Amino acid sequence: MHCARIRTALSARLDGEQLPPGVTDHRLDAHLSGCADCRQWQARARELAADLGRAAVAAEGDTASAEALLAHLRSRSTSG
Ligand SMILES: [Zn+2]
Repeated sequence: MHCARIRTALSARLDGEQLPPGVTDHRLDAHLSGCADCRQWQARARELAADLGRAAVAAEGDTASAEALLAHLRSRSTSG
């Protein structure tokens, strides 16, 4: 299975969404065990999701720090 399809499915799984048709948890894990690129991608996606979660929490009480965090995320996303 192509890495692009795996990553789409991984993204859905991280978001708690339904996996694309034909993709199972088992297939994702099997691919991850043999593909360092996708393992790295998932780690990065998890980190970003955690950052966004913190930004959402911060935005409720502290607009300035939420904006700073979002600026930080933007600067990081342009670096690749
Ligand atoms: Zn892969």
